[in-house]
Amino acid sequence: MMNVDVKRNLHEVLSRLPDGVRLVAISKYHPADYIMAAYEEGQRVFGESHEQEIREKHEQLPKDIEWHFIGHLQTNKVKYIAPYITMIEAVDSLRLLREIQKQAAKVGRVVKVLLELHIAEEATKYGLTLDECRQLLADGEWRQMPNVRICGLMMMASNTDDEQQIACEFQQGADFFDEVKAQFFADDPHFCERSWGMSDDFPIAVQHRSTMVRVGTMIFGPRVY
Ligand SMILES: *Cc1c(COP(=O)(O)O)cnc(C)c1O
Repeated sequence: MMNVDVKRNLHEVLSRLPDGVRLVAISKYHPADYIMAAYEEGQRVFGESHEQEIREKHEQLPKDIEWHFIGHLQTNKVKYIAPYITMIEAVDSLRLLREIQKQAAKVGRVVKVLLELHIAEEATKYGLTLDECRQLLADGEWRQMPNVRICGLMMMASNTDDEQQIACEFQQGADFFDEVKAQFFADDPHFCERSWGMSDDFPIAVQHRSTMVRVGTMIFGPRVY
């Protein structure tokens, strides 16, 4: 028995997204029947942050689901998800990018990725500073990676009630997107995604040019770890 009305919650979130903003339903720690409830309403894109959990769900659930890996990904786990993952959202090193290229080539796929920015003020461990991201792109090795497609940027805002600060951080992400788009991807229509906005801040994110929100709790309820 589900004690969360996944279908109603899903439609509530979808109704608040402007045209052109896609929903990645974050299903980590939630069971397969919750995912199926959203699937039956037409949702096809789901995000998970643990390799073993996403593998089990991928095996169990319909094959037309697009899986996004949203968490920190260790390089030694890339080989397990490369055969089926649609997008790896949180790439924060050249080393990880190289490993995705290697494993995607082995299975003859092109894996979409986003570069994760570290903009929030709090000291989270992950993500590229703006300068590190510029450096990685300027270095150019990614241009020799035919099995990796860089589709845009991903970020999390600070975990704060200060909406102005959150807005300011998303705006920094949007401005930085314009910068790197012009400098490195002007001729590449694939570089078009801005993945920001979670349950607590997605309405702010869509005002600051998010194209992809990652919402979990508001659809599936609180996670039980
Ligand atoms: C868990 C998670 C989310 C979803 O967070 P909610 O607050 O449950 O909407 C979004 N993005 C990332 C990277 C996450 O790890």
